[in-house]
Amino acid sequence: MSPAGVERLADLVSGARRVVVFTGAGVSTESGIPDFRSPGGVWDRFDPNEFTFQKFMGSETGRRRYWDLGRTTFPVIRRAEPNPGHHALVTLWRLGKLDCVITQNIDNLHQRAGLPADRVIELHGNATQARCLSCEMSYERERVQEWLDAGVSVPVCDPPCGGIIKPRTIMFGESMPRVELKEAERRARACDLFVVVGSSLVVYPAAYMPLHAKEAGARLAIVNLSETPHDGQADLLVRGSAAGVLAAVVDRLQPRPVAS
Ligand code: NAD
Repeated sequence: MSPAGVERLADLVSGARRVVVFTGAGVSTESGIPDFRSPGGVWDRFDPNEFTFQKFMGSETGRRRYWDLGRTTFPVIRRAEPNPGHHALVTLWRLGKLDCVITQNIDNLHQRAGLPADRVIELHGNATQARCLSCEMSYERERVQEWLDAGVSVPVCDPPCGGIIKPRTIMFGESMPRVELKEAERRARACDLFVVVGSSLVVYPAAYMPLHAKEAGARLAIVNLSETPHDGQADLLVRGSAAGVLAAVVDRLQPRPVAS
């Protein structure tokens, strides 16, 4: 972690009136949830083309394949705990600095760390919930997991409905949630500092958010372990772990006791 980068980011946050933080899978790897694109990440082990919205909706075989994977990935999310990066963002909010977190993550860890739900804009949904696509009945994903663990291969809605149950996540090929997307863009354009943390910035339209912010006049900082396609637009790049950098930045913002 670069101490100069941390110092500079703390200065930017301290001088900003309205900070928006944009998080990707990298903010949760230190909670034990693998990202998609790092070596050993999810796409090293599974072919994303097999898990599209079209395949899920198209046939029972597609849904069975999806739930086969979901049965093994959900427990990873369920047992993950928020890490110091998630907690640092809650502190930033308590200090009155954070307008909101726009997240690509589906793991619910920002809320579990203590950020109010109305401060978290989820662009790709939430994996802890599911719903019936016919009658809109909501299901805890935990309950669906119990069915899967009991041997159900393709969960369906309770009788008499029998509709397709789908997690409240946005699958590849599925349209984005319009309200969240619009709200994220509005807040990105209204902030004066936009901080990307732990995202490869290659998944669109989410990856447009830093560009919206920049275009509207905000400063842009990117905290990530590897390069992103938008590094050239950033006012500050910090190479380091999300948890380490966020915790160190927020530590510098905390009021210090005055020596008597
Ligand atoms: P990504 O996998 O494309 O990229 C993650 C980025 O984070 C990489 O550039 C990597 O270098 C960086 N990174 C990894 N660990 C880090 C750390 N400890 N500190 C700082 N940087 C770190 O993830 P993405 O950009 O979020 O896009 C992938 C898609 O995958 C999203 O749509 C998201 O919905 C989904 N996803 C979500 C989760 C989750 O909810 N935790 C996990 C995997 C994938």
